[in-house]
Amino acid sequence: MALIVQKFGGSSVGSIEKIKNVANRVIEYQKRGDQVVVVLSAMAGQTDHLIGLAQEITPLPDPRELDVLMATGEQVSVALFCITLKSMGYDSCSLLGFQIPIYTDNIYGKARIYDIDTSRIKQELEKGRIVAVAGFQGLDEAGNITTLGRGGSDTTAVALAAALDADLCEIFTDVDGIYTTDPNICPEARKLERISYEEMLELASLGAKVLEIRSVEFAMKYNVPLHVRSTFTEERGTMVVAETKDMEKVIVSGVAYSKNDARITIKKVPDRPGIAAKLFHPLFRAGIVVDMIVQNTSEDGMTDLTFTVPKPDFLRTMELIRDVAQEIGAEKVLGDKDIAKVSIVGVGMRTHAGVAQRMFEALANENINIMMISTSEIKISCVIEEKYTELAVRVLHKAFGLDKDGS
Ligand code: ADP
Ligand code: ASP
Ligand code: MG
Repeated sequence: MALIVQKFGGSSVGSIEKIKNVANRVIEYQKRGDQVVVVLSAMAGQTDHLIGLAQEITPLPDPRELDVLMATGEQVSVALFCITLKSMGYDSCSLLGFQIPIYTDNIYGKARIYDIDTSRIKQELEKGRIVAVAGFQGLDEAGNITTLGRGGSDTTAVALAAALDADLCEIFTDVDGIYTTDPNICPEARKLERISYEEMLELASLGAKVLEIRSVEFAMKYNVPLHVRSTFTEERGTMVVAETKDMEKVIVSGVAYSKNDARITIKKVPDRPGIAAKLFHPLFRAGIVVDMIVQNTSEDGMTDLTFTVPKPDFLRTMELIRDVAQEIGAEKVLGDKDIAKVSIVGVGMRTHAGVAQRMFEALANENINIMMISTSEIKISCVIEEKYTELAVRVLHKAFGLDKDGS
């Protein structure tokens, strides 16, 4: 008998028909003698719909109440799922984040899980029930409902698998595994049999939404075996595993893109010690994560500073930065939401030279202008105009031979 945590994403539970399909799949495991904890996302499009309703009232809804609202999406899914199972004669129990509880910090909209009380789940499993947990939500110390950030049901699943010491965590989704790049925009993308936690962490942080970044962090930290596979076929998917020696042979293992960033430029910032600290302090206090930062060489004691933040934080960032820019005597603040970040990732980059050059040439051949560049040991990212995203992904995929088997 194994203990398995299975997570089904929004498109897998997007209709009653699909919920029935998930129920049938889960029942198979129970019949085999496994204990199953099922984590569900909101039905496809629901979270966006709920955010849209709040934004009809105000562009920046109160974060606490927005979390209360967004958490309802997953509540609907687990309830419908358990109604389905019970109607089919299978005992089950739905649990919301606060009923477990899944304890988080109090950063609304992107709360971090720090503890999970597994006693209630274990009690329900011992009664022979299928347990359905609402993904994406938790409870802070003061008793407020929190949400974990978009795509956060993956994190709920992996964190639960770690806390329950499960034998396996399966992420069921609308693609049949992790590919060399998003198969929905690059038909030549190839399915990977396995990928290292490190590479998946980079791909996820660079926009490959097939797994949410914190879920990979949890999996890596607690060594949770992770299997990403399709809800709609029986086929084996992709295993996310610890790095092995042979993985370094492949220089680039994946291409990722993100349209989820916005760029902010502060013109003519006085170039003296303490200015960057002052500029970024309000963002840090607001919990806004700054990604790339570029500062130009200084001319006449003035410099331009450009950085990127997640698009949902764009309005708030502009507000905060305009205030502090005025305070320090900067000339003006410009914002640009029509950007994208394309990235190549591979543990083999550590030991191979000339990778950046090949990336820049591939983009140049298509006349795609690079606005910002950032690198780490195993990735290179370029910010480009949003309209070139799909083209850039395809040319990079080809330039690194990812369309060919065994590259
Ligand atoms: P779910 O609703 O099941 O959580 P998501 O939409 O969050 O599903 O994630 C699955 C999607 O991730 C796929 O439909 C695909 O478009 C996208 N994706 C991006 N990069 C990759 C990749 N490298 N491999 C597979 N899918 C990817
Ligand atoms: N429903 C949430 C979202 O759309 C969480 C998830 O699907 O993982 O972001
Ligand atoms: Mg997802």
